[in-house]
Amino acid sequence: MARDGGSRQADHWQRKYYDALAELEEKEKAWGETEALLRRLATRLTLAADHRDPALDRLLDDLRRALRNERNPHRLQKLVEEVSGVIARLDDGKSPAADPAAPLKTVFARLPVPEAYARQRRFVERQLEKADTPDAARKVAGDLAELVLLLLERRPPDGQATHEPGASEAAPDDEGGGFIASLFGRRREREAARTPAEDEAQAPEPVTGMAALGAEPEQCRHAAETLIRLLEQSHWPDPLHAEAELLKRRLEACRNETALREGLLATAELFNGLQAQVQREKQELEAFLRQLTERLAELDRDIRTTARLQAKSEQAERDMDTRVREEVSGIERSVADAEDLEALKTAVQSRVILIRDHMDRFLESQHGVHGEAAEVIARLERQLEAARNEVTALRQEADAAREAAMTDQLTGIPNRMAYDRRLGEELARFRRYGSPFVLQVWDVDRFKAINDTYGHAAGDKVLTIIARHLHDSVRETDLVARYGGEEFVILMPETDVAHARPVADKLRESIAAIEFHFRGTRVPVTASCGLAEVRPDDDAGTIFQRADGALYRAKENGRNRVESA
Ligand code: GH3
Ligand code: MG
Ligand code: MG
Repeated sequence: MARDGGSRQADHWQRKYYDALAELEEKEKAWGETEALLRRLATRLTLAADHRDPALDRLLDDLRRALRNERNPHRLQKLVEEVSGVIARLDDGKSPAADPAAPLKTVFARLPVPEAYARQRRFVERQLEKADTPDAARKVAGDLAELVLLLLERRPPDGQATHEPGASEAAPDDEGGGFIASLFGRRREREAARTPAEDEAQAPEPVTGMAALGAEPEQCRHAAETLIRLLEQSHWPDPLHAEAELLKRRLEACRNETALREGLLATAELFNGLQAQVQREKQELEAFLRQLTERLAELDRDIRTTARLQAKSEQAERDMDTRVREEVSGIERSVADAEDLEALKTAVQSRVILIRDHMDRFLESQHGVHGEAAEVIARLERQLEAARNEVTALRQEADAAREAAMTDQLTGIPNRMAYDRRLGEELARFRRYGSPFVLQVWDVDRFKAINDTYGHAAGDKVLTIIARHLHDSVRETDLVARYGGEEFVILMPETDVAHARPVADKLRESIAAIEFHFRGTRVPVTASCGLAEVRPDDDAGTIFQRADGALYRAKENGRNRVESA
């Protein structure tokens, strides 16, 4: 009977063994998938550097917690599977880093090309789509520069002007407000645009190539400013930051077509550099996550060892139980069969010795198992600690990078990205709870003259001092940010125009009272401000437009003024 029971047990354990093997293979496969997942997570992390993804953030938190606390590989695995959906969704979009023409596409997307130029636009668009190598992208940069100059020249598109007299009716100036102004931006600069009548009077030749173009200095300057704004909208990490600043200076001085073309190429080049840097950071992060994955795999192996040891220990207990039962039933049999007391005593004694023996061996094996288990647990703890430290370090690095990305490098105050984010939050709060807020847009008066007279370094100093002054003068809950160039914005939560106006006036007076000294003389510096209170239908663009419109009026009405929308 004991033998039958034993062979049944052997079958049972053999089955278990094969099951365990199958499970192991299964797990090995799952870990392979996990690793791929974590790599995609790495890609996503770098892409999220610009705008933090809350789902991804939660995911990292969970992963970190799981690494610290979770000893069950199944649950860990489950967590990774759960997040896989999130990552897959996030990862769906094509990585912009893989597209060498991406920066040019950014420039292209900003060009409002009128219908009359649809053919040229489609041509450049197709070239951009096809450009899949850096060399091809460089070539398309030339085509794009040509289109920009063509638009600036406001020559009718190739062939159309000579063959279709109606084409000029679709010319951009008819869209109201001047084509160059609508193309490149600011209302204040619209005065510079030519009238349609002047334009048509020029009766241009069809354009056949870049050499045939001759953009005017003023037009080149406007185009260069567009590029400057594009550069200002991106965060340039070191060492690209210095290059971006240099390029901005070069573009500021850009007055002819050759310089503009070079500027455009240099801008595209710089964006390529940014992509390369992002790519490098991505690879570093991937390497880290690969390491983390290996550690997770080790963890899994160790947990399996622990489980095996536990199984071994349970098996020893069962063996012990079986043997003790066998001996006890042997004693029962001896009692039943005993013919004399002496024989019974001997039989029982030998059985008891056997039981003691089993017990000793059992305790010995248990001791071994426990020692091995303690070692595994200590190793596990060390690994968990290391993984935890690395994840914490990564988090700190990411926080520092995010902080840098939100800070203006020249003045040290928050930048445009910080403003965009905070404005989004304020708008959401307004829609949800009706909390009003005010946006102030500030612009230093006649700042160009300061640069021109005392040099760029002096201009930079003025910007830094004014930025700090604004930053230190408002409430802690207000946000002061450099919007770009010599423009600043202030967001004042829980405030309406009636309360914001006197604050703005005080700020204006205190700026005018700052004593700037250059070359031994005091140079007065003033700034103008436009302010707007949020309205129910506002979005980020409309409230800014209102405040900017008010600023325009402040400039028109003599500068060193505050106007509200
Ligand atoms: P307005 O009163 O109408 O605002 O006149 P403005 O001269 O201030 O306006 P404009 O927009 O013509 O000139 C702004 C100048 O600011 C042009 C650009 O050279 C300069 N600028 C932009 N960013 C920086 C910067 O970071 N440092 C320095 N020194 N100058 C800058
Ligand atoms: Mg300005
Ligand atoms: Mg100004």
